[in-house]
Amino acid sequence: DTNSDSDSRDPTSLRTPIVAVLGHVDHGKTSLLDKIRGSAVIEGEAGAITQHIGATAVPLDIVSSIAGDLVDPDDFDLPGLLFIDTPGHHSFTTLRSRGGALADIAILVVDVNDGFQPQTLEALDILRRSETPFIVAANKIDTVPGWDETEDSPINATYESQTDRVQGRLDEQLYEIIGNLSDEGFSADLYWRVQNFQRNVGVVPVSAMTGEGVPDLLAVMMGLSQRYMKEEMEIDVTGPGVGTVLEVKEEKGFGKTVDIVLYDGTIKADDKIVVGGQNDPIVTDVRALLQPRPLAEIRTESRFEKVDEVSAAAGIKVAAPELGDAMAGAPVRVVRDRDLEDVVREVEAELADIAVD
Ligand code: GDP
Repeated sequence: DTNSDSDSRDPTSLRTPIVAVLGHVDHGKTSLLDKIRGSAVIEGEAGAITQHIGATAVPLDIVSSIAGDLVDPDDFDLPGLLFIDTPGHHSFTTLRSRGGALADIAILVVDVNDGFQPQTLEALDILRRSETPFIVAANKIDTVPGWDETEDSPINATYESQTDRVQGRLDEQLYEIIGNLSDEGFSADLYWRVQNFQRNVGVVPVSAMTGEGVPDLLAVMMGLSQRYMKEEMEIDVTGPGVGTVLEVKEEKGFGKTVDIVLYDGTIKADDKIVVGGQNDPIVTDVRALLQPRPLAEIRTESRFEKVDEVSAAAGIKVAAPELGDAMAGAPVRVVRDRDLEDVVREVEAELADIAVD
């Protein structure tokens, strides 16, 4: 294929697993994402953190600097974790990929004081049906009366520094959650006791407020992905991009745009794409691929900067004509050198799949 414009990258590569955060309202989903984002920004100050639309990428080296001794980067070849920024099960259920969940892996957040609540059960049901591997973040451990906090500490160190009474109280709360999971048919245990994360759900005590346990949470997510999901993460990175629409947005200077999460291949700034619409699939040409500009530069320039191409997994804003009918949750496919009719049929099939639920 002499006229191919693909470069010399190894076409088979491992993409970042896509992570969703679920849980009952007020149990701390947003706070947890904010904490992870905040820690990633601090750790990443020396190097550049890639900006994403609708998602937060935490590269392996940043995971490792947040997780400290818990993550040795040499043990991993997955490039990091990509967190979808909109938490909750509405986004989880609308965001699909090829009929399955867009998220490869999930964090179910449970407030240790409040325990299992209706939306916790709903989330479990969704995770069960979609067969999405998940871990439980037992959140707000800092609210145990008498808690002595150590900011951003791994759980073991901060737990050891608590009085017997505080430890006992936290243990009770954690075992209640483990019991509740068991009632729902999930065999669960504290994560450091779990041998096989495919069979058992790991419970990670955390505080989204103080960052305690966040090193463990990232280490467990990374370990679980590396151990059990590596094969699913193998993609042809130079192939035509495939993604899901997160949101359809009007953007000054660009008209209607779609924010997408790309989970396979590459999308380029001059690609023809097919996007799922309220009526027929939309066939259109990318006008611009937009990433958020680093905060420091926003004052002087547009919020976005144009990029030539992006590879999975990534969150990216796509500006293109005719996107008025595009829908959140709809598939996006790059045509490139494929037959347009085939791509349109694939998008139609995926849309039909979504409509069934
Ligand atoms: P969401 O509805 O699940 O996204 O929950 P939020 O992240 O909005 O959190 C709900 C409330 O709980 C907010 O007032 C947070 O400040 C508080 N919160 C969240 N995580 C923690 C935590 O780890 N410790 C404490 N003390 N408060 C928390």
